Amino acid sequence: MEKSTEILQQYFGYDSFRLNQASAVENVIAKKDTFVLMPTGGGKSLCYQVPALVLEGTAIVISPLIALMKDQVDALRVNGISAAFLNSSMNPLEQNDTFHQLKNGKLKLLYVAPEKLSADNGSFLNFLKEINISLFAVDEAHCVSHWGHDFRPDYLFLNGLKKQFPQTPIIALTASADEITKQDIIKQLNLQKPTVLISSFDRANIKYFVQPKQSVLNHIVQYLNEHPNDSGIIYCLSRKGTEDLANNLKENGVNAAFYHAGISSAERAQVQDDFIKDKIRVMVATIAFGMGIDKSNVRFVMHADLPKNIESYYQETGRAGRDGLPSEAILFYSNADVMKLKKFAMVEGNEEQSSLMLRKLQQMTDFAEMQKCRRQYLMEYFGESHPGNCNSCDYCLSDFENWDATIDAQKLLSAVYRLKERYGKNLIIDFLRGSKGVKITDYMRNLPTYGIGTNGDKTFWQNLIKQLIINDFLRESNEEFSVLKLTEASNEVLFNKRTVHLQKVKELAKAVTVEELE
Ligand code: ADP
Ligand code: ZN
Repeated sequence: MEKSTEILQQYFGYDSFRLNQASAVENVIAKKDTFVLMPTGGGKSLCYQVPALVLEGTAIVISPLIALMKDQVDALRVNGISAAFLNSSMNPLEQNDTFHQLKNGKLKLLYVAPEKLSADNGSFLNFLKEINISLFAVDEAHCVSHWGHDFRPDYLFLNGLKKQFPQTPIIALTASADEITKQDIIKQLNLQKPTVLISSFDRANIKYFVQPKQSVLNHIVQYLNEHPNDSGIIYCLSRKGTEDLANNLKENGVNAAFYHAGISSAERAQVQDDFIKDKIRVMVATIAFGMGIDKSNVRFVMHADLPKNIESYYQETGRAGRDGLPSEAILFYSNADVMKLKKFAMVEGNEEQSSLMLRKLQQMTDFAEMQKCRRQYLMEYFGESHPGNCNSCDYCLSDFENWDATIDAQKLLSAVYRLKERYGKNLIIDFLRGSKGVKITDYMRNLPTYGIGTNGDKTFWQNLIKQLIINDFLRESNEEFSVLKLTEASNEVLFNKRTVHLQKVKELAKAVTVEELE
């Protein structure tokens, strides 16, 4: 381990390894297969770069992101490490030069695109047999699996790697693999008794905020004024949305640009480069922007429109703070966006797909609307436990006050009782608020509880229902259409004068305050 720490300090200028980096490095140096699941910004590169320098021979790094290869190789060379890459963008002359260096054992790292391995029936692999290979690193390893979200046929060729190089350790790295994908990667790559290293996906340096989607432009301009040195990304749903917002920001004196799949690739490369080099401060973009962009000092990621699901939200917000410094994720949320995305989800693909998309959208909506620690929700969504009280999300940073909710709880519970525990929350809320909608029958209108809840709006009652469920005063049945049911505790409230004490957010912490602008 001492040797690798020395290399870490000497070549990369860092004092110490992060937790799973140390294990990965140690493991690969011991020539054992390794699987690394680490969030974006977690530090996957060092897991193979350091062993590449410790071990004899050349490390072969398989990476699908051609655009990034050059940057990575340049960065290594700046640190005094002999590295090169091979991909389809190079002419034969340039390739020959690299082959020459390879043959003479001059390279510590060689980055190759996966299609290089499959080309000419694997002639490149045969060539590799003639040189001394220290390790294979398979980056973005989820691309080898049909279960992942980004399967690439060229990756399939990698399953022959182990057979042809049984003595050479393989390290597979990814930032996105659920359990099935993980198992599949291990199987597809033929990893032998791999050490599996899974890092927490918690990004402790990112603060999460959700704000109502109102006067968004004002909010953003204000935020930028309050954070004059910060650069970041603002995601919009549509191409036109990015153009409009970027132009509006420019009119407000902000150095902004837009990015989407509709602009030429030359132009895209240009703005991306300008952004990375801090020549553009704010990138207003569709989801087309970001995959593999290594800008470490992105201080904020905003969502001017609602993302389709938590995976996208987390991946996009994860582009903030890769350098580990405090950063912020701000989501502007509106119900109108939910409606819009619902429509998209319903027309897209087949029924099964649509219902999956709707379910994921619902989880995104829950995240935006809930009253609990946002980080806890995110971590639990990804299968990690988190105690809450993170102290760095808007909910945990908010002021709370005790709230005697007995009267409102009585109203709500008696509505559930009067309607014989047969309806879901939307109908109960409509009923309480005296809706004239068709779903409220004449019979319901004549019940004594009809219309007694006009003191609160829809959101108020939704929140109360959520809190009552959390505190066991109410439960939701697990039927196809979930129905509100009473509990023992609710009966005590209804018939035994039990009081209900809840907490209510006095003022939700905000990333930007613009009261004075409104
Ligand atoms: P990933 O590939 O997992 O997204 P990178 O390998 O690009 O992450 O690393 C993300 C950032 O963290 C980089 O800026 C890198 O220099 C930094 N980093 C990685 N490991 C360490 C470490 N042990 N100490 C300090 N910074 C580190
Ligand atoms: Zn929190």
